[in-house]
Amino acid sequence: MKPVIALAASLICVSAALSAPVDAHPVADDPATAHFLANEAVLIEAGETKILFDPLFTNSYNTYPLIPAEMKAAMMAGEAPFDGVDAVFVSHVHGDHFDAEEMNAYLARHDTVILVAPHQARLEMQSAAGWSDAFDARLRIMPFVSEAQALSLADGAIEVSAVHIPHAGGPGRAHIQNMAYRVTLNDAATVMHLGDATPDMPAYDAHAGHFAERRTDRAFPPYWLISRWGGDTVRARLNAEDITGIHTPIRLPIEVTASREDFFTQSGETRGIHPHSDDD
Ligand SMILES: [Zn+2]
Repeated sequence: MKPVIALAASLICVSAALSAPVDAHPVADDPATAHFLANEAVLIEAGETKILFDPLFTNSYNTYPLIPAEMKAAMMAGEAPFDGVDAVFVSHVHGDHFDAEEMNAYLARHDTVILVAPHQARLEMQSAAGWSDAFDARLRIMPFVSEAQALSLADGAIEVSAVHIPHAGGPGRAHIQNMAYRVTLNDAATVMHLGDATPDMPAYDAHAGHFAERRTDRAFPPYWLISRWGGDTVRARLNAEDITGIHTPIRLPIEVTASREDFFTQSGETRGIHPHSDDD
């Protein structure tokens, strides 16, 4: 998003290293690991099952980090850890989340990858360089509807439930279809990516049933949800065990640096994803 909430970002620039909670770091028996690329780009790796969220974008709006060139080259080439990606998820079509031409190039190069994206993404791809009608067979396009949408990919190794949560920033961005994806990998680890979801509570109340129906092991909300609501409310609202804030600006705002909650701020950071037992 163009920052309406990141105003504080311009007031302070802190280079303090943020430390993740002790149990956030990956360990060998985690069913899945999250790798942070930049902005809202995250790779989730669960053994042979791999998905990418908002991985291809080219606009920083002079505010948000871009993916380092070597990392993007590895992703485009399908080199580890970006080998064997099953599906790419796009939250919405803003330039700090999505680039239609790059997505066309990626799909052309990786001819088994499925793309899950809002209808607006397909429209942009179709009019961008590199589009092929053959891509349609691999697109799972989310219509702009209010009810939850379910998808099963990779022979059931990837189970998706998606809802539209309006983009932050109010009526001026209401025309942007912003999808919040809850994805379960290998029936073992569940993550949630919300794009640039609004902090307006009624949008979540409308989907209370969706959030209640399955526990998320680690959600990746935009950092402003955490700074507006507080971590406990985010966890409760999303029905998430753990949360790691994303979309952190280059100049970290004080509400991030002063927070005790967890955020992805540096490309290459990782977090473990694991279900908690009732007693931890
Ligand atoms: Zn946006």
